[in-house]
Amino acid sequence: MNISKPRIIVSKCLEFDSCRYNGLSINDKIIRSLKEYVEFIPICPEVEIGLGTPRDPIRLIYKEKEIKLVQPRTKRDITIKMKKFSDEFVNALGPIDGFILKNKSPSCGIYGIKVYDDIDQPSVKFKDKGFFAKSILNHFSNFPAEEEGRLKNKEIREHFFTAIFTIANFRDNVERPTRGKLIEFHSRNKYLFMMYNQIILKKMGKLLASLTERKIEETVELYFEMLKNLFSRKPNKKSVINVHMHALGYFSKDLNSKEKRVFLNTLEKLRTEVITVSGVNSILESWMARYDQPYLSKQTFFQPFPQGLIDPLDTGKRRVLN
Ligand code: SF4
Repeated sequence: MNISKPRIIVSKCLEFDSCRYNGLSINDKIIRSLKEYVEFIPICPEVEIGLGTPRDPIRLIYKEKEIKLVQPRTKRDITIKMKKFSDEFVNALGPIDGFILKNKSPSCGIYGIKVYDDIDQPSVKFKDKGFFAKSILNHFSNFPAEEEGRLKNKEIREHFFTAIFTIANFRDNVERPTRGKLIEFHSRNKYLFMMYNQIILKKMGKLLASLTERKIEETVELYFEMLKNLFSRKPNKKSVINVHMHALGYFSKDLNSKEKRVFLNTLEKLRTEVITVSGVNSILESWMARYDQPYLSKQTFFQPFPQGLIDPLDTGKRRVLN
């Protein structure tokens, strides 16, 4: 299967540089494992605006109906500087497929970053994104974006990997778009998309059925918006099983009733979490090897991201770190 290399913006303190406020960096096994498969673009916005390392911590405060970025010890207001840097950074970026940003950072965090009501004796007024994260994610709306802590959770991680590798593959496919390339992309992703969202899958199909009614660039743009939307939520167990049932249909003439029953029992074990999706997939893959099913064999559903990124020791039970 042809796997594309996603271009991912990453907080530089994660594995790339000792640029944290305390002069340290953070070891991250998942980012290390991604280095072989991903083109990382590391960035530390606080260093880029000249705060230096080590540096006094900064925080978000809500003042005059605006969120500001300040350094309490020096009383510096660095809002304008960070805003200018964020705007210049996004405008200079080429194509991007996603973001991995450092949690709990007033610059990079995506979830639950504390916004205080005062620079000196603060109490938390509300929570928001970090300043830099908010600017860039507003610009790249609906792109896959995760904090490194949340990627420790297997479901979140595999969903994120699926999204970035599929989006990168789409970007490669439409570099010089043709109608044939779009249809081929859609065709080999059909069961993956079905697992995510059947309504969006149908809309994508409709869009491609009316390909000749508009310019190819316009279709690419509309399709890409749908693709990002499709990945805005993780798939649920029911829709995964639905795809497995569709796949079973390809072998209905080849299998005897006992084999089918064993497969249905395996799906029940998947439903009750006794076995994993890859356990079911390996049964289907063995049938694909035995009975020629070219359409099913090319489906990205069976391998949406590189095999080397699957952690066989991860049971998926780890809690989300936030
Ligand atoms: S969290 Fe962001 S701003 Fe803070 S050190 Fe890491 S990259 Fe730099």
